[in-house]
Amino acid sequence: MSDLVLVLNSGSSSIKYQLLHAVSGDVLASGLVEKIGETHGGRIVHEAGPAKLEYDGAIPDHKAGLLRAVEMFRQTGLDLTSIGIGAVGHRVVHGGEVFWEPTMITDEVLQTIDKLSVLAPLHNPANVVGIESTRELLPGIPEVAVFDTAFFHTMPAAAKTYAIDAKLAAAHGIRKYGFHGTSHQYVSEKAAQYLGRPTEELNQIVFHLGNGASASSIQGGIAIDTTMGMTPLEGLVMGTRPGDLDPGVTPYLMRASELDVSQVEQLLNRSSGLKGMSGVNDFRELQQLIDGGDAQAKLAYDVYIHRLRRYLGAYLVELGTVDTIIFTAGVGENSPAVRADALAGLRNLGIEIDPARNETRTPGVRRISPDSAPVTVLVVPTNEELAIARAAHKLATT
Ligand code: AMP
Repeated sequence: MSDLVLVLNSGSSSIKYQLLHAVSGDVLASGLVEKIGETHGGRIVHEAGPAKLEYDGAIPDHKAGLLRAVEMFRQTGLDLTSIGIGAVGHRVVHGGEVFWEPTMITDEVLQTIDKLSVLAPLHNPANVVGIESTRELLPGIPEVAVFDTAFFHTMPAAAKTYAIDAKLAAAHGIRKYGFHGTSHQYVSEKAAQYLGRPTEELNQIVFHLGNGASASSIQGGIAIDTTMGMTPLEGLVMGTRPGDLDPGVTPYLMRASELDVSQVEQLLNRSSGLKGMSGVNDFRELQQLIDGGDAQAKLAYDVYIHRLRRYLGAYLVELGTVDTIIFTAGVGENSPAVRADALAGLRNLGIEIDPARNETRTPGVRRISPDSAPVTVLVVPTNEELAIARAAHKLATT
């Protein structure tokens, strides 16, 4: 069977897609559909080799967006219905307590993903719509769901249990699930390959620092803890989410500001974190504000770093000894300042960064600690699309 896989990451108002070869990782085309369902600003950018196509105009729903993207594939010489796609891989955010392996999508699986929307109301419904659209537009191709929660399925009970009423927790599936699992697994395996050692031998701490951000501790290839929780709101400070917050703040805010549930949900998901503290969620803009002397932006940065270090400390203790610390995603891969500040002053713990290596940009995995340091600090570019493509291809060919 062909190793050509179409990977889809459907959000509430966007779809990211990539057509790639699962074995070599070669990307034939990729694109982004934005502002689906909004009255203004609908946009598709599609790239295939040197060709770049753009569409600006209303995109009423996910299916309409995909239909246009399929047409753009055709215009760049890639007819998705006849090119021989072996599988479609979907990133699905929440697998709940039901799914922790890549799963072939059937009507029943799709219904269950839809039911899990109670745990991820901002994410799973969009994933369902994305799946329905490709099933309709590209019938007959195996479709595989790869769950963002899957890698953290192995967390011990003590790490994933919330200290609330046990019956309520069981009745509603309230526990820590973790997200970004595909990325945490991918970069930790890449790091092991880079070091030429099996993952089973390594204790690793991963910082996935993008617009969403999470950290994990991984013992011998098995995830034992992560910062995100039942929802992606918990843990590190993010672009627009606060991370850890006293649970008492939510009811207090609802009373004090007369917010209803969906307004609080919006506040916590879209206008907290760096954006809430400084007005911007993009890290490059935050750095520009700091360079211009903006005190709120500096405070936001300090809170961000403080939270990273708090979890670093927690995970160092959980693991006992650590072999690698990995930085990945937009901020983790591109901000030497964040990496340096997150690990500053820890030489006594064997953690050190070589300033010149930290500043040097090269593609691929790179070591930024001195060769002599006991803990190897790495920058590992993440590639969730490739990981999803490989998982989908593997399942479709077995
Ligand atoms: P992601 O969600 O992984 O795409 O990461 C998005 C975040 O990475 C945004 O906050 C960007 O500002 C940040 N980012 C991208 N490039 C850079 C850079 N060169 N320096 C600092 N942050 C960056």
